[in-house]
Amino acid sequence: MAVAQSLQARYWHRLADGRLECDLCPRACRLHDGQRGFCFVRAREGDVITLTAYGRSSGFCVDPIEKKPLNHFLPGTPVLSFGTAGCNLGCKFCQNWDISKSHEVDTLADAASPKEIAAAAVRLDCRSVAFTYNDPVIFLEYAVDTADACRSRRLRSVAVTAGYICAEPRAELFAHMDAANIDLKAFSDDFYRRICGGRLAPVLETLEYVARETDVWLEVTTLLIPGLNDSDAEIDALTRWVVDRLGPDVPLHFSAFHPDWKLRDRPPTPPATLTRARGIALANGVHYAYTGNVRDPEGQSTWCHSCGGLLIERDWYRLGAWNLTADGRCATCGAACAGVFEGRPGRLGGLSFPVRLSRR
Ligand code: SF4
Repeated sequence: MAVAQSLQARYWHRLADGRLECDLCPRACRLHDGQRGFCFVRAREGDVITLTAYGRSSGFCVDPIEKKPLNHFLPGTPVLSFGTAGCNLGCKFCQNWDISKSHEVDTLADAASPKEIAAAAVRLDCRSVAFTYNDPVIFLEYAVDTADACRSRRLRSVAVTAGYICAEPRAELFAHMDAANIDLKAFSDDFYRRICGGRLAPVLETLEYVARETDVWLEVTTLLIPGLNDSDAEIDALTRWVVDRLGPDVPLHFSAFHPDWKLRDRPPTPPATLTRARGIALANGVHYAYTGNVRDPEGQSTWCHSCGGLLIERDWYRLGAWNLTADGRCATCGAACAGVFEGRPGRLGGLSFPVRLSRR
């Protein structure tokens, strides 16, 4: 049985006035004894900062890897997904606010040690474990230990994150990951400040770091919100930056917003907006652009950037036609498709199902 516990955190230092400053994310919370950080799962306990959510989860689920979303990383395979509670951003449109805004006692109903998670993933026939639902940045020590346990069992690790993290912990987190989907929530600092309570620059730094200085397979997601980040000009600037700074092979997902949390006065994103954004991305040289959170087989399938042929057909998370060779090339023209492929698709069939790991 896993034991829920607090773990002394890494990445903090003492200030001259006696407070402890957390160095994990750019928010740099300064804590007196007994105080918690903005993310809620890091707290000062006496003379140290602790991660109070170590070994505790808001729940486990087996998902298709496409749901993260990752379309070029072991397509069709199952991934054991979990998160904890809290978040280090305060996005008004949060689509997981019951987890990200919760206080841990409400939410952390399941418990599992890193080794138990890896063992469960093997038992459930998963190829990888994903740190998702809330941001693994804030439970870095738990995510890193779990990734270590996974590596020893030949499982891959996946981070789904907003990338709002300082340089030193960024290097540690991504050294343990095999794939990541990183949110680029908008392409304006004003949006990050007003809507998310953060800043754009650290996110761009994380994206460039992962794309250029690691072997982590990277995909990027932008949730388009009507009237806030969906103008032609902003999508044009964002996609040009992606091609220029990350490269044309980094897949870009445009997903639909649904009114939630503190942003209920905006309508859902029309499918036409996602299609428009995808068109701008492709015109600007992005090789793989996708729509998400709506039914759109054309926008969710993978097409060869060279000859335009269908490579992987998708309807929601279910795979259809597969026209990749064993070494990940277009079966029609031979152009390489960027990604991590193993010759044939997994067989999960697009379904998700929850699992419980603790015996309580
Ligand atoms: S990780 Fe949490 S405690 Fe640390 S600076 Fe960020 S929000 Fe504050």
